[in-house]
Amino acid sequence: MSNDAGIIIVGAGECGARAALSLRENGYPHAITLIGDEAHLPYERPPLSKQMLLAEATPQAPTVLNDIMLGERAIRHIGSASASAIDATGKQVILSDGRALAYDRLLLSTGAAPRRLPNVRANARILYLRTINDALALRPWISADMHVAVLGGGFIGLEVAASARNRGARVTVIESQERILKRGVPEQIAETISSLHRRNGVEVKCGLTVSEIDADDRRVSVRLADGTEVTADVLVVGIGAQPRTDLAAQAGIAVDNGISVNERLETSVADIYAAGDCCSFPHPLYGGRRLRLEAWRNAQDQGILAAANLAGAARGYDAVPYFWSDQFDHTLQIAGLVDEGRTVVRRDLGDGAFILFHLDDGQRLVAASGVGYGNRVARDMKLSEMLIARQVVPPLDALAADANLKSLLPRAA
Ligand code: NAP
Repeated sequence: MSNDAGIIIVGAGECGARAALSLRENGYPHAITLIGDEAHLPYERPPLSKQMLLAEATPQAPTVLNDIMLGERAIRHIGSASASAIDATGKQVILSDGRALAYDRLLLSTGAAPRRLPNVRANARILYLRTINDALALRPWISADMHVAVLGGGFIGLEVAASARNRGARVTVIESQERILKRGVPEQIAETISSLHRRNGVEVKCGLTVSEIDADDRRVSVRLADGTEVTADVLVVGIGAQPRTDLAAQAGIAVDNGISVNERLETSVADIYAAGDCCSFPHPLYGGRRLRLEAWRNAQDQGILAAANLAGAARGYDAVPYFWSDQFDHTLQIAGLVDEGRTVVRRDLGDGAFILFHLDDGQRLVAASGVGYGNRVARDMKLSEMLIARQVVPPLDALAADANLKSLLPRAA
């Protein structure tokens, strides 16, 4: 690579910002341009549903890259800008204001956008949560005199519900599936989280689809298929996210449940890479099964790997999928892919905390999921992640009993 046009990164979330930082840490000498459609400097998203809602005073944005860091590293950040097209032949990114920026290599880290409710008119009392501005708009509603209705018992919904209860609001969660956390979280863990919410005063309604939503300037009301109605001050909608693939698709880049990349995060078009929530990739730990992960750790790890490959390496991505959520005083963690496991072994850690180990037909550990108070499950989950990465076939009794998981790790050669 010799072209001074440098690297353009479209999407300034965790993945894009981490890639920009990592390029400089690895000594990349040419221009780096980071394009984001938000006005803010790149920031962390995990606090948006927790600390940003819980803080008494309006909190500061938790930045990943501030002006000093950008200046010291000669990273050009273009905020409030939207990339409207890619000219893959001329190697240019076109911004919606008409500017054309030349690139040598391009990273798409466009992330995901909240799935919207179809056929519901916009109203100030119906809110989504993905950005800092969304969190700032939601904050005034999270207080003791409010009734907060939450649509969707996934991660956004449950984290917002816990934050709202912590601030004394009345909270009702409505989930269309027969239980919360249906996607990728085992039933036993979901049950623990469900009773945690109920114990803390959250009303959790499952198996109910919405027949109508009606909002005016005084209240929002959600009519459910069983004929009941939830009337609240605000409705927070957390019904999933969709990868932002339009830019890639318009440029003729292959899309398959996300921008399709190979194990090196290369798209179907030369010199264009994709990483983070927006991409689907083959995972070597799971027989090359294509995954798309919506998780902070994946965004960070793929941003770092994309940076290495953009700068000339050719490494494959093989990190164990990892995911966590803090709700009330509990943490839930998942390493690996739960649905790959056919045998489940439970290890109890006391005070209601436990880990489930998920093994495939060959008894290889393919996932671990744990829940408990504080950081009760953290150490065993870290070791489980290492066992999954090393593709260990552990003795089942050692998993269930109190054996030190470290002793199951293969010795370094
Ligand atoms: P999610 O975790 O996919 O959960 C959405 C839930 O809402 C699903 O159970 C979904 O069921 C249900 N649902 C869909 N349509 C519905 C409807 N009309 N009425 C009621 N329920 C409905 O997505 P999310 O909670 O919205 O989170 C959005 C993104 O933020 C995800 O990428 C998530 O991973 C990320 N996030 C991550 C964390 C974390 O890592 N701790 C925290 C917050 C957010 P179906 O499966 O049937 O669609």
